[in-house]
Amino acid sequence: ATTRPISVAPALSETLMLLGPRMRKAGVQVDVFHEAGEVVVDAGQVRLEQVLMNIVGNALDAVAGRNDPMVRVDISKDSCDGIIAVSDNGPGISEADLAHIFDPFFTTKDVGEGLGLGLSIAYKIIQDFRGTIVAEARPEGGSVFTIKVPLSEPVL
Ligand code: ADP
Ligand code: MG
Repeated sequence: ATTRPISVAPALSETLMLLGPRMRKAGVQVDVFHEAGEVVVDAGQVRLEQVLMNIVGNALDAVAGRNDPMVRVDISKDSCDGIIAVSDNGPGISEADLAHIFDPFFTTKDVGEGLGLGLSIAYKIIQDFRGTIVAEARPEGGSVFTIKVPLSEPVL
């Protein structure tokens, strides 16, 4: 499928609106931090929102039940890429699991709670955008997923 210039902030807002009921259920508000200036990437609106839905949805699952849940999204850019970092203070991901989380059908959730497809789909979509997606442990505990997607070339 083709790509076109997509502004990241409105795509995230739309996604967070759809996740409203799950945020209320998890008892957490997602904090959004946006560097100065618009971040416009070469992507597809629906597919980018699907990726954000999967990653932020996983973060909500990870913090559900904590008494101090935290999920935040940082939007920024470097010289080539728009950068979306989704952090949570959930249980984190073990070294062993980190090697498999992007595999289709890998899940640590109970039957009926996760099919294990969200991250494999996200990975494929971001690859189609010629971007990257990386999962790491946060030094403070929890996880951070960093998505990079090439900035769209301004049409002159
Ligand atoms: P599902 O959510 O259906 O389990 P995903 O592909 O979205 O499938 O995620 C695969 C697995 O990656 C999860 O089951 C979980 O073990 C791990 N995971 C993903 N995101 C997080 C996160 N934010 N914190 C902890 N574990 C995570
Ligand atoms: Mg998932």
